[in-house]
Amino acid sequence: MSKRRISRQQRWRIEKIQAERSERAQRRSADTEASLSEGELGDEQAGIVVSHFGQQLDVEGSDGQHQRCHVRSNIDSLVTGDQVIWRPGNPTGVVVAREPRQSLLSRPDNFNRLKPVAANIDRIVIVIAPEPLAHANLIDRYLVAAEHSEITPILLLNKADLIDPERNRALLDMVERYRAIGYETVRASCTSSGGLTELTALLDKRISAFVGQSGVGKSSLVNALLPGTDSRVGALSEATAKGRHTTTTARLYHFPGGGSLIDSPGIREFALWNLAPEQVLQGFREFRPFIGYCRFRDCKHQQEPGCALLTAVENGDISANRFASYRQIIDSINDN
Ligand code: GDP
Ligand code: ZN
Repeated sequence: MSKRRISRQQRWRIEKIQAERSERAQRRSADTEASLSEGELGDEQAGIVVSHFGQQLDVEGSDGQHQRCHVRSNIDSLVTGDQVIWRPGNPTGVVVAREPRQSLLSRPDNFNRLKPVAANIDRIVIVIAPEPLAHANLIDRYLVAAEHSEITPILLLNKADLIDPERNRALLDMVERYRAIGYETVRASCTSSGGLTELTALLDKRISAFVGQSGVGKSSLVNALLPGTDSRVGALSEATAKGRHTTTTARLYHFPGGGSLIDSPGIREFALWNLAPEQVLQGFREFRPFIGYCRFRDCKHQQEPGCALLTAVENGDISANRFASYRQIIDSINDN
């Protein structure tokens, strides 16, 4: 092992210890402030976390009003989307309990520890477009991550106004392949009137997150669905005004047509980190009936005789495209 490698590890450990120490200190001071004002708190009520900033967060009560709150230290880290029991206060309220979560989206922090980012999202809308052209492999990474988080994905083909049935044959065939294996697909356009009608109906009564590569129209969709809120500008100015880190917090918004959105730059690219090979395999939902039927228990599904997955590809039960995409993701993990 080289000297440089050791010193990098040491530096990592020191940074980790410092981060934990400052987290504890922040928590202690938040606790003190919280207990000082506890006497003047209102009755317990239900709410939902709409954004979080370190040890403080904004909670929306049943009346739709937001209030800045501290968190009792016996509650595990709260994130945007968490359903909570809280007590209003002046100037800050206190969150006293957290309801069980339906889903939790996490991502690695700078120290490679998984950190929760948002709770209770129940739809991940994977946005694709003819320009920049959608890549099946990127879609598959999002799908695997969605399956892993047990959140229902929807494939949204945006910029429908630009689609020509002949020129975009390959793209439309690809979307059809996803529909055939059971994923919900929908078309939308931010530039044609009525282009969002079908999407609006799908979002109702759900908490959704939009993901997808840059340029496919996520901001345009969000801005069209949330007139009057520029989610991107709002999040950025808030971060700078408070002098906080550049990564912006996830925020919860309500669509006027029903349903909610949890959005942040981190969520928009959430699938782009790695999962274990077995999780990747399980994330290809149409492979599942064949998993566990290979002749060899440690089959790598490469060229082993009696591989149930390779046989399924040969028989046309699994599309060759999806299988190639699976291999590509596995190879990218092994290269690391
Ligand atoms: P993001 O990077 O995914 O947030 O994408 P943006 O919302 O910034 O959009 C990228 C570009 O695509 C912008 O120039 C938009 O005006 C354009 N765009 C977004 N939605 C549509 C659409 O439905 N139709 C067309 N023709 N252009 C769109
Ligand atoms: Zn196999």
